[in-house]
Amino acid sequence: MANRPTDFDPAFRSHAPGYWPEDAMEHWNDHKWQLRNRIDSLSDLESRINLTDEERAGVLLAGTKLAMAITPHFFNLIDKDDPDCPIRRQVIPRIDEGWTAPEEMADPCGEDSHMPVPGLVHRYPDRVLFLVTDRCASYCRYCTRSRVVSGVGEQHLETQMERAFQYLERTPQVRDVLLSGGDPLLFSDDKLDKILTRLRSIPHIQFVRIGSRIPIFLPQRITPELCAMLKKHHPLFISVHTNHPRELTTEVRDALGRLADAGIPLGNQSVLLRGINDSVEVQKALVHKLLMCRVRPYYLYQCDLITGSSHLRTSVTKGLEIIEGLRGHTTGYAVPQFVIDGPGGGGKIPLNPEYVVTREPGRVILRNYEGGIFEYAEPTPIPADALAALHEKALETA
Ligand SMILES: *Cc1c(COP(=O)(O)O)cnc(C)c1O
Repeated sequence: MANRPTDFDPAFRSHAPGYWPEDAMEHWNDHKWQLRNRIDSLSDLESRINLTDEERAGVLLAGTKLAMAITPHFFNLIDKDDPDCPIRRQVIPRIDEGWTAPEEMADPCGEDSHMPVPGLVHRYPDRVLFLVTDRCASYCRYCTRSRVVSGVGEQHLETQMERAFQYLERTPQVRDVLLSGGDPLLFSDDKLDKILTRLRSIPHIQFVRIGSRIPIFLPQRITPELCAMLKKHHPLFISVHTNHPRELTTEVRDALGRLADAGIPLGNQSVLLRGINDSVEVQKALVHKLLMCRVRPYYLYQCDLITGSSHLRTSVTKGLEIIEGLRGHTTGYAVPQFVIDGPGGGGKIPLNPEYVVTREPGRVILRNYEGGIFEYAEPTPIPADALAALHEKALETA
């Protein structure tokens, strides 16, 4: 089928049916067409797939909380008949979103209280998170910033670009700026170029990165012109967001390849989601495909305590099990760091499986990935008499 341009490479094949008629293919690679034709209403959805009652109610509620929007490219990866499809569950709302569990918060990472100017989160000493837009190509149902993202909620992102630039100019301890939102790659090349140029004109800013799910939701946006513009602003890194191996189609792989060819180091951030990617098997397939796409797995996040996420969150133990199932069993480059963003504003806290069995004076007892036990002896200081004897020997040799 024409809607499956990915059928040629078995590893990156999309198993989805084509939901658009043949004549849509004429525009398929035009990112503006993709944005104009997003699935964003109940009738759009129901004309293409059969919804469950939970989904239908969820879509009706979404209009008051976090909008629904799904690019045709991403929608095409949805399995029409499987309500548990891992692509579907990330972007089609369910009624469960309407319930707020007691532990959940509108601002789970305490960002609003760490903004010296609106839209700029300065939590760590040397780096800032700069929220440049509240719009994305598609909306993830577990969005950690759903309080401000998509424009339908009560709260709005109030970034003032000029005030943010001035804060950065007068704050020399900031050496790293992370552009996020929303998705910064939704901006035009020209607008992004201006932002990057302004940041680059600040001498103490050494490092700029962009957090974006556009290469996954809208790979058509990664044009040669965009790559040529980004390339002028090195060192520039991009962190993408992929949760399931099925997201990595040939179009996505090619888009990531264009970014990598522009010299942009790529990392991936995944969110651990119940029933979507909470198994060693799925995570292993994901990280292997990421490496084939020249993307280094960076973080695996325990899902934030965002309102309406209890149906998507899984246990911390599951995350540790996944890391244990990867470390040693596969390429070291493929293993992300598992983290929890400290609720209320603690920053990213690393979690690691325990490989130290005991630590005693002079030695540590360790466990390897297969459960084998190993002893590592700490360094023994050279005894004074041994050292004296060596000096004597050196003199004799002279
Ligand atoms: C994640 C984050 C960063 C970047 O953290 P790294 O560990 O350097 O990737 C910076 N600021 C805020 C507020 C963040 O949430």
